Amino acid sequence: MSLNEVLIDELRDLYSAENQLVKALPKAAKGSNDAAMKQLFRDHLEQTKGQVLRLREVFEHLGKKPTGQHCSGMEGCIKEVTEALEKDETGALKDAGILGAALRVEHYEIAGYTAALAIAKSLGQKEIVTLLTETLEEEKTAAKNVLASAKPILKAADSQEDEEEEDEEEEPKDAKEQESERQSEQDEKEAQPEMATKKRK
Ligand code: FE
Ligand code: ZN
Ligand code: FE
Repeated sequence: MSLNEVLIDELRDLYSAENQLVKALPKAAKGSNDAAMKQLFRDHLEQTKGQVLRLREVFEHLGKKPTGQHCSGMEGCIKEVTEALEKDETGALKDAGILGAALRVEHYEIAGYTAALAIAKSLGQKEIVTLLTETLEEEKTAAKNVLASAKPILKAADSQEDEEEEDEEEEPKDAKEQESERQSEQDEKEAQPEMATKKRK
């Protein structure tokens, strides 16, 4: 395997990730409650379509096809967005739950483009560097915008919680949530051999 092939793998992963987002972002726009957040997802959808096209251009430079690798990391990130959208929450509390998942998506993309860009630079692929830099900047701005749009949501969610607090009891977990809980306990257990003797200094 050559470094050029490593670059192609990274780019194919990103291409799959962006295509998955073209499908997922309308659902996020539909499922969120806040008008600004909805608009942000819609705007980023249009931007994401442009990013798909930009990657196709990159592949044209390389004389390769853009498909060939499914991005399982983005599949996982989108799954977390879906889980947040399916939560039995209302209003700002629901949107607050989407924040972490949406930020994870953007930062996952930032990581992927940062790596691909570093490889393209070391290969001296100037045109590809230019194209990838444009997208990386868009992703960084998208992450900033997500966080900025969340500020008023978090404020509203905080007072929403106060109003609801009286009748607040732990709701029973559905099958999916129970499985998630079981797995998280398994995660902890499997770390135990390493963690047993650890103390915070
Ligand atoms: Fe993107
Ligand atoms: Zn991936
Ligand atoms: Fe993005």
